[in-house]
Amino acid sequence: MQRSFSAPARVNLLGEHTDYTGGLVLPMAIPFKTVAAISPRDDEQYSFASASYTSVREFARSDRSEGRGDWSDYSVGVLRELQKLGTEPRSFALMLDGNVPLGAGLSSSASVEVASGVAMLAYSDRKLSMKEFALLCQRAENSYVHSPCGIMDQFVITAAKKDHALLIDTRALTYQHIPLQEGGLHGTRVIVCNSMVKHSVATGGYGDRRRELEVGQAVLLQRYPQLRDLGDANLQQLQSCEADMPPESFLRCRHVVTENQRVRDAVIAMRAGDAKAFGALMVQAHASMSGDFASSCEEIDFLVETAVTLPGCFGARITGGGFGGCTVNLVREDAAQQFVERLQEQYLERFHVKAESYICDAVDGAFRANGLSEEAE
Ligand code: ADP
Ligand code: MG
Repeated sequence: MQRSFSAPARVNLLGEHTDYTGGLVLPMAIPFKTVAAISPRDDEQYSFASASYTSVREFARSDRSEGRGDWSDYSVGVLRELQKLGTEPRSFALMLDGNVPLGAGLSSSASVEVASGVAMLAYSDRKLSMKEFALLCQRAENSYVHSPCGIMDQFVITAAKKDHALLIDTRALTYQHIPLQEGGLHGTRVIVCNSMVKHSVATGGYGDRRRELEVGQAVLLQRYPQLRDLGDANLQQLQSCEADMPPESFLRCRHVVTENQRVRDAVIAMRAGDAKAFGALMVQAHASMSGDFASSCEEIDFLVETAVTLPGCFGARITGGGFGGCTVNLVREDAAQQFVERLQEQYLERFHVKAESYICDAVDGAFRANGLSEEAE
């Protein structure tokens, strides 16, 4: 019998590149879906297919081969991590389908890992807590796909709750659901706008930025051994180390230290229902990603600069790892539709490309959506 499991995509409201140095992030799950359909086979083989690709990957249950460098590694990596835990699922065929835009910064990769993982857990009757499961999916991407991502994407896609953003402390791996509407950012909408410039976490800029940041963090920790990581540091401590690190490492670290503070301030703004303050923090965050972190691009900067001139827009910023992908915008509800139209019009005129835009509700993560329990039993 075939069974289907789904995982959403995510947009990050605030807290970029803070999730691998013990910092804070504030993403939410959005209504795009990856569906993983799993069915038994009776031939001691596993097979992986996707509606988005023509290739099918098939191998024996006993096979432990490395990644192939294609789309199937995201799912097979999850199987490998389960096998490392001693779970050897019976033979299955796994088929992926869905509508998450690929390589757009909305984390189709984590959506695939989580959907595949939830399917494999249910199929093999293995129980993991949400936290163990999100970490397993991250390890799949780090060690099988060789993509140096942090924990944010897998965590929010697993643990999100409808109508809430998710504040994650990426060191402690604790989280809080922050309401978006009741008292929160009441009367606003979150709008995702796709520049259609593809980014890739597996290659290029993301890894460079991560290395530059880690060089700076190492200098800081040597000077202040009481700090556990960059997530603990304040601006003064960082500034006192400026001369001892490469200039680009200082700037990358400054982005992260100020970004963690912006997430703290954003949560206060949300709890106070202050959309204006929240939007101002988004604009500051964008300036920091584009300036100190040097990971925006012309198209994204244009989308942000245009968005903030439009009626009803509280704030806009790049979202996701950078170097293309999407912007996230906070817009007054009654101005949302017109905002999308005008932003698309201006982008089309400037770059001759239609920037697909989505007015997003916050949806449940995969554990809630598939009726899995939060804690391992
Ligand atoms: P993002 O996560 O921002 O969408 P990534 O480059 O991290 O971008 O991940 C995109 C990759 O994930 C795709 O190139 C593909 O290999 C894989 N992927 C995403 N969705 C699917 C899918 N439905 N089927 C198969 N592979 C997918
Ligand atoms: Mg990804």
